[in-house]
Amino acid sequence: MVADMFLRLTFLLSLFLNPNGMAMTENLKKFKVANWYDVNELKKDVFIIREPTDIDASFFILKSSNKALFIDSGIGLSEKVAKQLLEALKIKQFDVINTHAHFDHVGLNHLAKKVYISRSEWEKFQRLDEKTQLDRFLKMDNSSRPEGFDPKMKRTWKPTFIESQKPISFGSFTLTPTLSPGHTEGHVLLLEPKLNLLFIGDLVYDGLLYLHLQDSSLSQYEESIKSLVSMISKLSNPILLPCHNSIPLDAGYPKKVLTLIEKIKGKKLKPIKEEPANSLFQKGAVYEYEGVKLILGTKAN
Ligand SMILES: [Zn+2]
Repeated sequence: MVADMFLRLTFLLSLFLNPNGMAMTENLKKFKVANWYDVNELKKDVFIIREPTDIDASFFILKSSNKALFIDSGIGLSEKVAKQLLEALKIKQFDVINTHAHFDHVGLNHLAKKVYISRSEWEKFQRLDEKTQLDRFLKMDNSSRPEGFDPKMKRTWKPTFIESQKPISFGSFTLTPTLSPGHTEGHVLLLEPKLNLLFIGDLVYDGLLYLHLQDSSLSQYEESIKSLVSMISKLSNPILLPCHNSIPLDAGYPKKVLTLIEKIKGKKLKPIKEEPANSLFQKGAVYEYEGVKLILGTKAN
């Protein structure tokens, strides 16, 4: 009985101690801003910011004193609410690194001092006139809108190009970008090696994976997933941070995506349904294997 109580006490105590036996002082924050942004501190000064629309998009904020580095910047439908977010987190100035340039990742770019993006993604953003994507999305989307919603908000931003494998430092953080095309032409993922954080943008998440954009490519996507799986295998307890749905994502998920791709390529699967083209996406075919779903563009001929 006494031994049992001792074990329980030891267990409870272990919850408050880190492996070095030091008391944990981390007091992670969790709050809502302006009835819009859900703010969740994942680790000290690493925040997940979720926007409550039907596409369940999130972005990330790394903080260092009153400065911040955003990994993507969400849909950004209201400058008023964005300013409340910055105030709540005591951010005076921030930069953004974009995993890619889709409308649900670049929404607050115009408020940033500097916006990092890959050259290929920027060139494609211009070529396909993707700045009009948000308007096209809003016409199709029936989600609620934040206070101060302003569809005409000026959204001009200038790119600073990042190079694959050339680290970007911010405060105590270091982010190493790796080009990971497939979902889009110039998509990057970012590794923070000290914290084992992998910011994977829209490369993988637990939901229908989009490969039916004009610049999507299944063969490039397969290579990107393979290199992500290899990166994961070299890290101990990596934390996968996608921009949609469950965050963090189970580290075994990318391998399941690879299995699905192999089945599609080996013609071992038939699509479970076809989707017509719309103003954002090309015509596509949905494939599913063991709960992992992907929509592949089937260009109209
Ligand atoms: Zn995307």
